[in-house]
Amino acid sequence: MVTRSPLYHRSQVDKLSLEELERYDRQLRLLGFDVESQLKLKRSRVLIVGVGGLGSAAALYLASAGIGFLRIIDDGYVELSNLNRQILYNTGDLGRRKVEVAAKRLRELNPEIEVEALGERLTEENVKQILSDVDLAVDCLDNFRARFILNDACVELGKPLIHGAIYGAEGRLMTIIPGRGPCLRCLIPREPAEHDKIPVLGPLPGVIGALEALEAIKVITGLGEPAVGKLIIIDGMDLSFYRIEVRRNPGCPACGKIKIEGI
Ligand SMILES: [Zn+2]
Repeated sequence: MVTRSPLYHRSQVDKLSLEELERYDRQLRLLGFDVESQLKLKRSRVLIVGVGGLGSAAALYLASAGIGFLRIIDDGYVELSNLNRQILYNTGDLGRRKVEVAAKRLRELNPEIEVEALGERLTEENVKQILSDVDLAVDCLDNFRARFILNDACVELGKPLIHGAIYGAEGRLMTIIPGRGPCLRCLIPREPAEHDKIPVLGPLPGVIGALEALEAIKVITGLGEPAVGKLIIIDGMDLSFYRIEVRRNPGCPACGKIKIEGI
């Protein structure tokens, strides 16, 4: 299922309209962020895998920042127990396909961008095709089996991946740039046990999802220093923030054979 915003085709990728200059005015005032940075966002194509708690925040911030093309993939339907954290959805959306509701909401938020909705699950069979024409992927998944499928394909295709996860009251984030630092398999050598329903307070995936969007914007524009080789851990209970150096595993089955710059 693919649906597109009708307004998108009016937009040009080599300049910003007066409306866009006004829409993005507050980020254009940021030191080191100029019209060319905004055009980089406008020309960029980003895949968001999962539009649950993490994906809701990441997608809203990436759409509002002006990422020109967002592809969202999720095979779920909106359930009542999603609504404590999945802020893309309202009570009136119960029973509807998540990607359809999400795409509509994102287009309403920013009609300047194109949103493509895929109502399916990411698998070993479809992952490379889904990644083939995007610049970067954002991991907003809720299981490690799919995370490793995404990680391995991103490493093989050389696409940056922003990893985010929630473990109870703890949130984690790491930015993976193949060739510049470790990948998810370097960080987590074995697939952890899967949990069906992880306990979660809504603000935590909101924070991690927002940080994933921030990292994506930084990687695309070259702004600042993305968390490559750095695992960010947020303990929601005492509000401690940790940054742990992560080394590449030379024997990593995913990235062990690729040439690494700098590290
Ligand atoms: Zn690796």
